[in-house]
Amino acid sequence: MADIIQLLPDNIANQIAAGEVIQRPASAVKELLENAVDAGATHIQLIVADAGKQLVQVIDNGKGMSESDARMSFERHATSKIKGIDDLFHIKTMGFRGEALASIAAVAQVELRSRRAEDELGTFIEIEKSVVVKQEPCASATGTSISMKNLFFNVPARRNFLKSNPVELRHIVDEFIRVALSFPDIFFSLSSNGQEVFHLEPGSLKQRLLQVLGNQYSTKLVNVKEETDYMNIYGFVGKPDTARKTRGDQYFFVNNRFIRSAYLNHAVMSAFDEMISKDSFPLYALFIDLDPSQVDINVHPTKQEIKFEDEKIIYAFVQAAVKHSLAQFSIAPSLDFSLNAEIQQLDAVNKPATTGSIDSVASSSLFKTFTQKNQAHKIDPDEKSELRHWKEFFTSSSPSSTDLQQPQKGVSDDNFFITGRPFRDVIWNAESALPLMQIHNTYIIATTENGFLLVHQQLAHERILYDRYSAAAHGKKMAAQRSLFPVTVELTAQDSVLLLELLPDLLDLGYLVEPFGSNTFVVQGTPADVLQGNEKHAIDLLLEQYKHFSSDIKFSRRERLVRCLARQQSIRGGQSLSAKEMNVLLEELFACTASNVTPGGNPTYIEFKQDYLERMFGR
Ligand code: ADP
Ligand code: MG
Repeated sequence: MADIIQLLPDNIANQIAAGEVIQRPASAVKELLENAVDAGATHIQLIVADAGKQLVQVIDNGKGMSESDARMSFERHATSKIKGIDDLFHIKTMGFRGEALASIAAVAQVELRSRRAEDELGTFIEIEKSVVVKQEPCASATGTSISMKNLFFNVPARRNFLKSNPVELRHIVDEFIRVALSFPDIFFSLSSNGQEVFHLEPGSLKQRLLQVLGNQYSTKLVNVKEETDYMNIYGFVGKPDTARKTRGDQYFFVNNRFIRSAYLNHAVMSAFDEMISKDSFPLYALFIDLDPSQVDINVHPTKQEIKFEDEKIIYAFVQAAVKHSLAQFSIAPSLDFSLNAEIQQLDAVNKPATTGSIDSVASSSLFKTFTQKNQAHKIDPDEKSELRHWKEFFTSSSPSSTDLQQPQKGVSDDNFFITGRPFRDVIWNAESALPLMQIHNTYIIATTENGFLLVHQQLAHERILYDRYSAAAHGKKMAAQRSLFPVTVELTAQDSVLLLELLPDLLDLGYLVEPFGSNTFVVQGTPADVLQGNEKHAIDLLLEQYKHFSSDIKFSRRERLVRCLARQQSIRGGQSLSAKEMNVLLEELFACTASNVTPGGNPTYIEFKQDYLERMFGR
């Protein structure tokens, strides 16, 4: 019997391999743009016709190719970018596999025109189905122009598989934007069917982002920048109010290479945590730079996936950096101490604010009221110690001072109140003659340097309690205040089952409740905040709200409980507050990390800035 194994002819092998690299016009766009960048171009034009199905052309002013390099570039595994296996671990260029041009030439009609600065004449090559049709010297500008025509003309099945023009064009634009964002100092343009769609002059990353996203974002981007020995991160996140219902502009780049990473995306989402509703997507463009040996980019080029040597650190780092920036942008700059220990040790977390980050918050009017002494990172333990008079806030009678201090100890020292700057740095009333004012027993008006805040007392209080209770639920147990006269509560069978399930969590939150025979419980103590004598009502309300929340499977049992309690315990509209109570409320509010929203995503206050007010008056 004759042997049956044969080697595939080159052109067929190329065609098969091409399927992996070039799936649609946009794949060619990515490869050609990256080649132009690798060639050191400062001016790159992309021209497409018929959503790239008819033509994809990239013209660059890069270093060009010699005659033989031009010919070689279409060979599979022909690359100028790596010479030995070691180079693989220090990749600085976008390409390195030497597959792109070979693949494109296998499935389209390609024309290349290229000239190096030192050569008088350039080279013209026409290649089709991996076969050179024509090669000759030609006049050419310095740089390279490659046109890919009639993609998949020889593979009808693939051509038919392409989507409609709008869909394919969208893919092209996506790739174009990713490359354009990675290299803001390069000029890029994109023309489609003779119309220029993008014309991006070189500039800073922020300028490039605004060119791409639209100028309306100019006041909506928050700078992110942290540097450590291990890695750097820089870029921008959109302020919470730019979050959208559809996943839109979210970009991660590792060593300037666009990547998709659900894992890192999650890190950013979690940094936004309470600031945006769960079903919306924040905008971001973040660049992570680290030693190439810490990353495995030797995965398939089109998959845009990446493997890190140490994923967890990167996650924590991204999360911390974004949180940090958001905190600086929000009124109460804060550090989040709930981050895991690993990240606490990272430099970035311990570092003082960078000039860049300070600049970026300096534009917020409230920031301008911050004094030198109250730097974004300065946490002065002395200042916070006098802030807490919670008990007074809840009880109209004046309890003894030991009673007052006791329950606060458990919550006030570390986790809770370390975060913010004293609100008197934000709110002018504190120092000036203007007192806080309550209107309709529901809102508090507080003057700021150049405007005022309208604070919703209930929502503000809900945020405060939520922070306090979550800290309690995460290890900082709340002290219960033992009742002098324990109250017995009788519940329905259904409610008792529920309450039994919640007892351990409730205990951490300061509720001392014990089962006492069938469907009966004794309330031995409640958190210091809960008015004594009101225990039964509190338990009833809690169960009712908890049931209401139970359908919300997004949250853990504890989280639901915390949310219920915060809502249930918050002061209502209609309750008149003393000047002191208002002061405490605002102090506490601005000590919260996400002081501007409730856990459910409602604003806790609205800021009216002077320029906005002026505009309202038509000035
Ligand atoms: P890779 O980029 O992985 O090296 P490609 O198939 O994309 O592989 O390109 C092969 C080679 O052709 C490159 O290594 C480079 O030397 C050369 N080349 C491709 N495009 C250009 C260009 N626009 N300008 C200069 N040289 C280019
Ligand atoms: Mg390449």
